[in-house]
Amino acid sequence: MSTPQTRAYAALSVGSTPEPWQYEPRQPRPDDVSIEILYCGVCHTDIHFVENDWGFTQYPVVPGHEIIGRVTSVGGEVTRFKEGDLVGVGCMVDSCRECDCCEKGLEQYCAGGVWTYNGVDRHDGRVTYGGYSERVIVSDRFVVRVPDALDPAAAAPILCAGITTYSPLRHVGVKPGDKVGVVGMGGLGHMGIKFAKAMGAEVTLFTRSADKVEEGKRNGADHVVISTDEEQMKQAAGSLNYILDTVPVEHDLNPYIACLAVDGTCLLVGQLTPLNPPIEAFPLVLGRRSILGSAIGGMPETQEVLDFCAEHGISCDIEMLDIRNIGDAYERMKRGDVRYRFVIDMATLKEG
Ligand code: ZN
Ligand code: ZN
Repeated sequence: MSTPQTRAYAALSVGSTPEPWQYEPRQPRPDDVSIEILYCGVCHTDIHFVENDWGFTQYPVVPGHEIIGRVTSVGGEVTRFKEGDLVGVGCMVDSCRECDCCEKGLEQYCAGGVWTYNGVDRHDGRVTYGGYSERVIVSDRFVVRVPDALDPAAAAPILCAGITTYSPLRHVGVKPGDKVGVVGMGGLGHMGIKFAKAMGAEVTLFTRSADKVEEGKRNGADHVVISTDEEQMKQAAGSLNYILDTVPVEHDLNPYIACLAVDGTCLLVGQLTPLNPPIEAFPLVLGRRSILGSAIGGMPETQEVLDFCAEHGISCDIEMLDIRNIGDAYERMKRGDVRYRFVIDMATLKEG
């Protein structure tokens, strides 16, 4: 019996727009969940991999790590899921399962973690393919349940943009009365505002564009500070317990650290390049301020954020995308022209 091919969209070489492509799926293992993909969010990381910005993309690459789908079958060892369940898969599909991080459900910090795409399967050594695809096969530990109360398409970005902002806010224990600043209002930032607000914080959005003031307030920000306005920045000095910095490109952190109160913490989730200009030590030392990095979240917390969103009526603002227009979507994302996340309607894969 020959295995049916899986239809997908892949970038075949550096910087090429993802196009129709097929691959042979692996044989499901006893702990595997087979999923028909309904929706997949489009993350900036997808563009980084397509363009080989980090130098280790293996082509063809099938991007996509904000996956929502229906279970079509499960292996004999799977007890948490059954055929027909609505489920999600985020940025990871495997880990070593033995280290300290794995024991604690912090699989995202496991040195043996396997990413959803452009990763290497621990069992057969094959490259992993992501969510721009009609189906995916994933070990049950890395599958989460999507609560009924969530709109399935709008839930997709929670699996990366959502958990990335939720996890650090939880880690530092944001609580009612805390003052939280959010820097940037893209896919990550707009979720960060909603989470901090739902945790009871007073939220200040920092943005460079004056035309985002109303939008920021609509998303739940109590205050909006135009970060290019020195007077407004001066007024915010020393006022915040936490700052969630979601800006993905190199930028000066010092003006934001100046906005932290004593014992305040700057939570870095967007930037992966060296911090430049250098951080001034003076405000850190004389105020016990700190900078903390954070990556996505572990599997228990990824389930938690979906449940939290269902409980608090939080979803990502999305624009539905026909997969055939993925190239245009990338161009618009590079210009910051999306409110706030594209989500591919995978039915369009089958049409084309
Ligand atoms: Zn992502
Ligand atoms: Zn591990």
